[in-house]
Amino acid sequence: MEDTEWMESADRVIANTYKRFPIVFESGQGAVLRDMEGREYTDFVAGIAVCNLGHANPGVAAALTEQAIKLFHVSNLFYTQPQIALAEKLVSLSFADRAFFCNSGAEANEAAIKLARKNFFDKGNFNRWRIVAMEQSFHGRTYATLSATGQKKVREGFEPILEGFDFVPFNDTEALKRQVSENTCAVLLELIQGEGGVLCASQKYIEDVRRFCDETGTILIFDEIQTGIGRTGRLFAYEHYDVTPDIMTLAKALGNGLPIGAMLATEDTARAFTPGSHASTFGGTPVITAAALEVLNQIERDNILESCGKTGAYFKERLIWLKDRYDIIEDVRGIGLMLGMRLKTAGSPIVDLCMKNGFLINCTQENILRFIPPLVITREQIDGLIDCLDHIFGEM
Ligand SMILES: *Cc1c(COP(=O)(O)O)cnc(C)c1O
Repeated sequence: MEDTEWMESADRVIANTYKRFPIVFESGQGAVLRDMEGREYTDFVAGIAVCNLGHANPGVAAALTEQAIKLFHVSNLFYTQPQIALAEKLVSLSFADRAFFCNSGAEANEAAIKLARKNFFDKGNFNRWRIVAMEQSFHGRTYATLSATGQKKVREGFEPILEGFDFVPFNDTEALKRQVSENTCAVLLELIQGEGGVLCASQKYIEDVRRFCDETGTILIFDEIQTGIGRTGRLFAYEHYDVTPDIMTLAKALGNGLPIGAMLATEDTARAFTPGSHASTFGGTPVITAAALEVLNQIERDNILESCGKTGAYFKERLIWLKDRYDIIEDVRGIGLMLGMRLKTAGSPIVDLCMKNGFLINCTQENILRFIPPLVITREQIDGLIDCLDHIFGEM
C-alpha cells in the first residue's frame, strides 16, 4: 500500500481527534526519522518531548526485550523487581520518598490531585479540597486534569467540568496569595509551561510560592511531565530553582516512548495513600519499568544532562542570532533543549515549510515555535535547522 492509502484509511477508521501532518513514519534512529518513502527528517519534536534518548534507542530496546521474554505483567497484587528498582532510582535521584506508577501524564496528575485532597480529608479538614492552578497551563485531557488546565479550548464542550479548580496568572505571586483560601489544598504548576508557549517561572516566583505554601500548609505540586527527565539540562527542572515540591508528576520522557507515568511525593504527603486509595492495572508493569530504569541509567552513563545543557545553550545562541536578523521574531526563551521562539505571525506555515525541507518542529499557542528535540541532537543537526529557518524567514 502507498502512504496516501494508509492516510486515507486512517481518516476513515481512526477517531478524528488529531490534525496530523501527511507523513507515515516507519523507522528512526537518534534524532532522525524515516518515512515510508525513505525520506529522512531531523526531528525537533521528539514525540512531544518524549524520545529524549533518541528514536529506537538500542539500550532501551534491549532492556525492554530482555524483560519481555521473562515476564510481562502480574498486576500490583504482587511485587516485581523492575518496579521496585525504578522506584528506588527515582527516589534516590529526587526530593521524593515514594513513587506511584501509572501510564500517562494525565494519570500522574490525577494521582497527585487525589493525594492532595486525601491529605486534608485524613486530617478531618473536609472543606479543604480546592486547587489553585495557572492560566495557560496544561495538565492533561482526563476530567480532573482538563478541569485543572487553564485553557478554554481544552475544556469547552465538556462541561460541567470537575469542581474545585481556581486559576491565577502565572508568575504572579500576589494573585496567587489572593486566590489561596482556607479551602485550598494545593497549588499546581509547571515550572516551564510547555503547551502554554515555553514560559519559564521566575526564580523569585517559585521561591515565594514555596514559602507561601509552607506558611499556609498548602501542598505544592510541580507538573514536570514535560520538563522532567533531562529536558532542561537537569534531571528535573526544579533543580534549577533549588526549590522542591511536595508532589511531582512525570511521564513523557520517562519511558523514552513507552507509556509510563509516575507521581512522586515526600513521605509526609504520600502517607495519605493507603491500600485501596488508588490503583492502576498496568501501572509500573515489569516491561515498562525495566525500560524506564534503563532510561535513567543511560542518562547518567552517557552524561546526557551535561551535553543537553551545552547543546541547549548553543541552540539558544543560534536562535538569538536569527532573532537579531529578523524583525518577525519577537523573542527566544527556554532552557536546555526546551526552547521557544515567539513570532509576530502565525507559526504553522513555517512548520509546514520546515517539514518540506526535512525538519520537524512544533508550534504552540498559534505563534510560538517550540523546539524539543531528542537530547542527543548534534550541533550539525541544529545548524541544519537554523539554515533552513534563515532561508524561510529571508523569503518572507
Ligand atoms: C503532556 C503533558 C501532560 C499530559 O500527559 P499525557 O501523557 O498526554 O496524559 C500533562 N502535563 C504536561 C505539562 C504535559 O506536557
